[in-house]
Amino acid sequence: MIDPLRIRSLNDAPVRPDREWVLYWMVSSRRIGFNPALERAAAHARALKRPLLVLDAVECDYPWANARFHACAIGSLWDLAARFQSAGIAHYPYVEPEPGAARGLLAALAAQACVVVTDDSPAFFFPRSRAAAARRLDVALEAVDGVGLLPVRAAPRGFLRAVDFRRHLASALPTHLGRFPLADSLSEPLPRAPSLPAAVTARWPLARPGDPLPAVVDRSVAPVAWKPGETAAIRDLRSFVARLDDYTEDRRHPDREGTSRLSPALHWGHLSVHAIWAEIADRCGVDVVAGWEGLPEPHRNFLDELVTWRELTHNTAAFLPNYDAYDSLPWWALESLAKHAGDPRPYLYEVEDLETASTHDPVWNAAQRQLVAEGRIHNYLRMVWGKKVLEWSPSPEEGFRTLLHLNNRYAIDGRDPNSVGGIAWVFGRYDRPWGPERPIFGLIRYMSSEATVRKVKMKEYLRNHQ
Ligand SMILES: Cc1cc2nc3c(=O)[nH]c(=O)nc-3n(C[C@H](O)[C@H](O)[C@H](O)COP(=O)(O)OP(=O)(O)OC[C@H]3O[C@@H](n4cnc5c(N)ncnc54)[C@H](O)[C@@H]3O)c2cc1C
Repeated sequence: MIDPLRIRSLNDAPVRPDREWVLYWMVSSRRIGFNPALERAAAHARALKRPLLVLDAVECDYPWANARFHACAIGSLWDLAARFQSAGIAHYPYVEPEPGAARGLLAALAAQACVVVTDDSPAFFFPRSRAAAARRLDVALEAVDGVGLLPVRAAPRGFLRAVDFRRHLASALPTHLGRFPLADSLSEPLPRAPSLPAAVTARWPLARPGDPLPAVVDRSVAPVAWKPGETAAIRDLRSFVARLDDYTEDRRHPDREGTSRLSPALHWGHLSVHAIWAEIADRCGVDVVAGWEGLPEPHRNFLDELVTWRELTHNTAAFLPNYDAYDSLPWWALESLAKHAGDPRPYLYEVEDLETASTHDPVWNAAQRQLVAEGRIHNYLRMVWGKKVLEWSPSPEEGFRTLLHLNNRYAIDGRDPNSVGGIAWVFGRYDRPWGPERPIFGLIRYMSSEATVRKVKMKEYLRNHQ
């Protein structure tokens, strides 16, 4: 049974059982495994005895759209196309060639749908597109939340400290772990796939491998080596779980690459937290319902990052108004940063200096070069990288804007509630005041590149990112 707290009705329009198909408008959970929205759409299709049609559209004018992110989005289309085809499901991959071209496609397919199901996720442009669809469609539209182990709406409120959210998870999670999504929603037979309507495919042609990149997409941020798609994500997950015993020690050291590097797959919806927990539980021989209290320390540490920290930032995105604005930071942080806004800055950099890694600091430059070249920054260095931008910006507000720009322009896991969470953490969110009071930072936690070089192993990292 799908956890009822994951399902929301977005309009008052009826289910129309006489129409042709059930439409799944796949948006942020681009996967087949552990996908409650797909599971819900497939359940409707079986109950109504209608085929399932999956619309998988990539727009071209979302904020920071560039060749790097298009490669991530389009790469997963082909992975899914092959898997839907072998399951006999109709899949409609569409890549918008110019801004606005996709307009009308959802409505055209929904006009023949008994019911439309889509993914629920609290951030970026998704809430706006869902609200617009809910206003326009004449058929029931449901959003299903596949974000985390805890349904976003299972939290009674927004939490602003990990310690409180962790306590809430301890009491709330056992119920929801008992309502795990299916590992494969397509294993049970579904009515035969419909042929796609010619009038619709003529106006919105199906995407094909090798189609040219839309002209409007920024080519100056090039694709990276990361392989998108659920198949690659599962392979990466298995390889990480095999070395999970070393997580606690290795995750800190850039030279050891001890973290999972799964954040892009999570961000693009190619992998779910349920799949990760199921894989770890299976390796450890425990039931997913039992939770991870009794597992070894590295496992618990990893799951704390994955579940407590990741789901906390999604909780913030869902519950804190303007969660991605500077003004939404905690009052003590805003007050302390304002008090020190006029402090002299020993180093001040323009965005272009930062973007081209032209600062005086070799640690920062190495992290920025990794971001530009690989679309990621090592976990520990990401914190130092953020703190320095606060220190080197003319004002904390400008530092906040610059970090959002750098992170979201280059990071393949960017434009996520975790992006805002990490950046806001740099400025005090989820944290407490730290003494002694310092210039520029005030009571915000300070980090330095010099201490980082002493504390973590990064000689090779610095050599590789010169
Ligand atoms: C300035 C700054 C910017 C950040 N921007 C992003 C971003 O754009 N996208 C993003 O996913 N994370 C972001 N983070 C959080 C964190 O750095 C990354 O999630 C982590 O480095 C991803 O690497 P990994 O998958 O190897 O992590 P692992 O250590 O293997 O952790 C597993 C998973 O847990 C979650 N996680 C780990 N650390 C955090 C954290 N501090 N907060 C929330 N979730 C966490 C992620 O989903 C991650 O994939 C940012 C942090 C900072 C300080």
